[in-house]
Amino acid sequence: MLRFAPSPTGDMHIGNLRVAIFNYIVAKQRKEKYLVRIEDTDKERNIEGKDKEILDILNLFGIKYDQVVYQSGNFHLHGEMANRLLKEKKAFACFCTEADINFEREKAKIEKRPYRYSGKCEYLDEKTLQKYIKENKKYVVRIKKPDKNIKFKDLIKGEMEFSPFEVDSFIILRADKTPTYNFACAIDDMIYDITLVIRGEDHLSNTPKQIHIRHLIGYDKKIEYAHLPIILNAEGKKMSKRDNASSVKWLLDEGFLPEAIANYLILLGNSFEKEIFTLEEAVKFFDLTKISRAPAKFDIEKLKFINQQHLKKLTDLFKLFKVNKIYENLLEILRDESSTLKEIKEKFNKIFEKSEDEEFKQQREILKKEILENELEESYDDFKKRVMKNTSLKGKKLFMPLRELLINEKHGAEIKDLYTAMLQYLKEIIKRR
Ligand code: GLU
Repeated sequence: MLRFAPSPTGDMHIGNLRVAIFNYIVAKQRKEKYLVRIEDTDKERNIEGKDKEILDILNLFGIKYDQVVYQSGNFHLHGEMANRLLKEKKAFACFCTEADINFEREKAKIEKRPYRYSGKCEYLDEKTLQKYIKENKKYVVRIKKPDKNIKFKDLIKGEMEFSPFEVDSFIILRADKTPTYNFACAIDDMIYDITLVIRGEDHLSNTPKQIHIRHLIGYDKKIEYAHLPIILNAEGKKMSKRDNASSVKWLLDEGFLPEAIANYLILLGNSFEKEIFTLEEAVKFFDLTKISRAPAKFDIEKLKFINQQHLKKLTDLFKLFKVNKIYENLLEILRDESSTLKEIKEKFNKIFEKSEDEEFKQQREILKKEILENELEESYDDFKKRVMKNTSLKGKKLFMPLRELLINEKHGAEIKDLYTAMLQYLKEIIKRR
């Protein structure tokens, strides 16, 4: 089984969506099941309703899953496993206070070395231990650090190796008995028989910890790992919440199509023979092991281009924009001039507004009168001939105000195309100018 394990703690980031997509593709390729695991173990950071938002986004993108579970539903199992490790002396109760730990952290900072747990509580004598427990002294559970290096082969990054120092004796159960991310994740990946974990590179240093946990529990089945390189913004820095385009919701609101966003994210850091494809098509040629190891740079212009290609495939635009079918041809023209749904919508709405442009006001009035007072010709060329003759306008002074009368813009689509598409209701529009 493969899994997507989002935390319901904020808006979905494109990095997360990319992880969801890649897991979906590989699950399909390997004919394995796909689990969505909502990682809601950190109560303070959970935001109500984010779980539903995540599932809605997956549905919108056509990412089908077989099962949804909430990690908090397994708390009892995480607790049992931690107790087992305690009993087997593979983990220990740590009574260090927050002040103790902060002191150690500060000390490490001053000495310019990475902070690691001092090991103080690992060798507490039995008498002190019993005394603390009797006193109801608060404690966390720490797993004992490994005694040798932990190695694994990452499908993208290659051979990885971490020392016991890097893994450290880390916390697996908090004082309130809830599991930490690494512990819950390691146990759940085991429970659900996960075969391959695809996730962001920011989790790379968690992997040896999770392998270590399962190793101490005695789970020998191998889980493969693939860590995806991070996505950089235009400045070459990691895409963060501050970059609007990092939010899937923002991209959708801006009028990017789910199929285009998915296409772009699959393409990012990859090179395929074709650039425009659907998620289902990608299942046929995507190769997880071929992803570039270098960080991928997010390029909104490229996304716009891809969006445009997917926009061209859309039919029945009037339904999408919830307008009368009569405007279909016009919407198609505007679509070919736009790179997002939002742009099409803005251009369309502008057509029904009054013209604010002063430059060609006078010419507009002349043309308006000419158009409204005469019958419209079927052929644009005939129409043009007549208008030129009767108004004596020509060149820029004819075409710019004419286009303004049609679409309320000086520049844009061919007037001939617009005229033909709008003929039926042209006078109604022009009256509004
Ligand atoms: N909840 C973690 C995250 O959203 C999941 C990491 C993982 O896939 O193990 O980053």
